[in-house]
Amino acid sequence: MTHDDTMEKLISLAKRRGFIYQGSEIYGGLAGTYDYGPLGTALKNNIKNLWWRKFVNGRDDMYGMDAAILMNARVWETTGHVAGFADPLVECTKCKKRFRADQLEDRTKCPECGSVLGPERQFNMMLSTRVGAMEDSSSVSYLRPETAQGMFVNFKNVIDSFHPKMPFGLGQIGKAFRNEITPRDFIFRLRELEQMEIEYFVRPNDWERAFEEWRVAMGEWLDLVGINRAITHEVEIDPADLAHYSKRTIDFEFEYPFGQKELYGLAYRTDFDLASHAKASSVDLAYLEEDGTRFVPHVIEPSFGVDRTILAVLLSAYTEDELGGSPRTYLKFHPRVAPIKAAVFPLLKNKPELVAKAREIYLTLKKEIPQVAWDDNGNVGKRYRRQDEVGTPFCITVDFDTLGENAELKDTVTIRDRDTGEQKRVSVSELTNLIKTAIL
Ligand code: ATP
Repeated sequence: MTHDDTMEKLISLAKRRGFIYQGSEIYGGLAGTYDYGPLGTALKNNIKNLWWRKFVNGRDDMYGMDAAILMNARVWETTGHVAGFADPLVECTKCKKRFRADQLEDRTKCPECGSVLGPERQFNMMLSTRVGAMEDSSSVSYLRPETAQGMFVNFKNVIDSFHPKMPFGLGQIGKAFRNEITPRDFIFRLRELEQMEIEYFVRPNDWERAFEEWRVAMGEWLDLVGINRAITHEVEIDPADLAHYSKRTIDFEFEYPFGQKELYGLAYRTDFDLASHAKASSVDLAYLEEDGTRFVPHVIEPSFGVDRTILAVLLSAYTEDELGGSPRTYLKFHPRVAPIKAAVFPLLKNKPELVAKAREIYLTLKKEIPQVAWDDNGNVGKRYRRQDEVGTPFCITVDFDTLGENAELKDTVTIRDRDTGEQKRVSVSELTNLIKTAIL
């Protein structure tokens, strides 16, 4: 199996089984956008909830935020995005196709038609829009290219409401928009994307300790969500290549089938953002210690792309093997991210007493664990394969023994493990706990 095969197979599975669809597909799509279907949405929500639990609710030094996507244009003038959030663009002199210069192997020849490429220029990736009824320059606003600034501009609000002790952080999950020159590789490079970001405020001399703590926490996250650590690498960015606001950055890179590329970033942003906003807005953004010392906090920023997380989780889970002598494809999700935690089947669909018992068990489970599904299509073997393909960790079958045909087995069901295909009999009363323990 070649690498290209994996992406094709994954994209096709994702579409066929309702994870991810091309955006606006019936109109021919819109480049750089994808829509999450029912199972993709469930997977995404599980991932975002886990992140929120680990990094916001699970800590007492973190505060959650949900800032507006549209912000005063001055925010982006201050940060340097309006002037400089750009990638190098080259255009073919003949076919007029545009490319990102730093992604071309040969910067002189068009990779599509072989003609000469024009000169390199900077292309700004901010997506602009107009806000309000006036059509003059004062109405220009931008769709945020990162969630980060929504937290910096609210730094003072949070301080005033909560008086947090140093160090503390803000966390936010939300959409961001970048007019990427060449969106590509499925949900890797999008024009509409989602981020989970943290701005962690520290005393200036404490940044190294906090940076290390977050580096470790980001590694733990990979395990929590089921991203294969063996093909994830921490890459220290060369000081010469650092963004203008950063004094140290580590990229977490993942071996995607199309190459080793960025998954997440961890950056030490110094006091760049708060100091710039304080100067431009004339609002004091210093922190006042109990002993009266004032300073502008420095910032450690762990930044996670939601869509790249989903891609890395899907690629880590995608497995082909043989079970019972026939090949199968399945998603080996950790139960905590699996969109469906368990599926309940009646052994036979045309036996009302089996169906009634199975429905009863299904509805009882669903009250406690909402992500439980009902499946009575085709035979049990087909149902197993279908559930394997969407990564359901447990399949529960209600048979005649459940009804008491064999008195000893009354009120027991079979529960099948997705990865091994092994089945065991457990009592119906144990089911909720068994599944709840697995998805913790
Ligand atoms: P790249 O070098 O791949 O363009 P970046 O360095 O510009 O990424 P950051 O600005 O650090 O990315 O953004 C933080 C995170 O947001 C990235 O680590 C990634 O997970 C995600 N991200 C950034 N751009 C995109 C995009 N176009 N599509 C999907 N996710 C993205």
